[in-house]
Amino acid sequence: MKIHVLTYSSPTNLSPVTKMDLELLDKAAREQGHVLEIIYAKDCQLKFTTRRPEILIKNQKPEDMEVLLVRANFLHYNLESYSAIIKQFQMAGIPVINNHLAVVRAKNKLRTMQALSKLKIPVPKTYVIVSSEYMDDVIKGIGTFPVILKTISGSHGSGVSIIESKRGLRSVVEMMISASGPTPFIIQEYVKEAKGKDIRVFIVGKRIIAAMERIATKRGEFRSNFHLGGRVRVASMSRKEKDVAFAAIKAVGLDIAGVDILRTKTGPKVLEVNANPGLEGITQATGRDIAGEIIKYAVKKARRSKVPVEDKEVKRD
Ligand code: ADP
Repeated sequence: MKIHVLTYSSPTNLSPVTKMDLELLDKAAREQGHVLEIIYAKDCQLKFTTRRPEILIKNQKPEDMEVLLVRANFLHYNLESYSAIIKQFQMAGIPVINNHLAVVRAKNKLRTMQALSKLKIPVPKTYVIVSSEYMDDVIKGIGTFPVILKTISGSHGSGVSIIESKRGLRSVVEMMISASGPTPFIIQEYVKEAKGKDIRVFIVGKRIIAAMERIATKRGEFRSNFHLGGRVRVASMSRKEKDVAFAAIKAVGLDIAGVDILRTKTGPKVLEVNANPGLEGITQATGRDIAGEIIKYAVKKARRSKVPVEDKEVKRD
């Protein structure tokens, strides 16, 4: 089977992370007797006429597409237009992993918070504000310093900082607002007891494929991201942690996700639900064939989408 993968990188300028992820997927596809075909977002055209919306790739209708794996490796300021490409594939009737709406929710930390808290999934105490006017109330609500300040769109730990004092928080927030206008940003309780560690849970379909603990290593660093030099090791998870991870992907609507969980005094709390989790770190840390599981899932999804609706209903019975 041909498995298509959509990337937002430029073919001439693939980042090492994207290159490695695509190589792992390609190898896994070949090992399972399939072929991975890369689609670059820059080659996609969205076509609207009086008929069903179409997607063209390099000006051609994709006749042989059975399933599309989306690697949503774009930045937040492109979210509207780039996620529309995913939706267009869906509207053209192609099974897509992860779907448009789930990607939109996952790529915006504010929308992730809304989706999680709607289903009462535990998260660190968080405020989102667009001005410094009510800063004192927010500080009172959080209760103690340090606090964590985040942009809505950061990833790989960029756009996440720790602020030690009220004076520091006010000056940074005012500087951010004067630099970029009244954009929303996040002020969050600092979970000190996590001690610079979190758990990255990799879920494919409805299965936890692997879980690793990420540990900040540099002195004074509280962020455990792999790309910031965080150390990784296999994590074993409690039932409660697994339940929270499953609930989080269900809330956001992702098929394939990396859920980041902080271990706190009051139980596991979800920090982030990543729609485009990197494959290399977790493959190395756990020895699991993550790319292989993704390919298997894509194949299953493609095959299921071919089963006529009546047969699917019979199966469910
Ligand atoms: P990103 O999406 O950029 O990775 P995160 O919100 O996941 O941003 O934060 C990056 C890292 O910072 C996390 O993996 C975690 O180690 C640390 N961190 C983030 N928020 C908190 C918090 N509220 N308390 C303690 N550590 C945190």
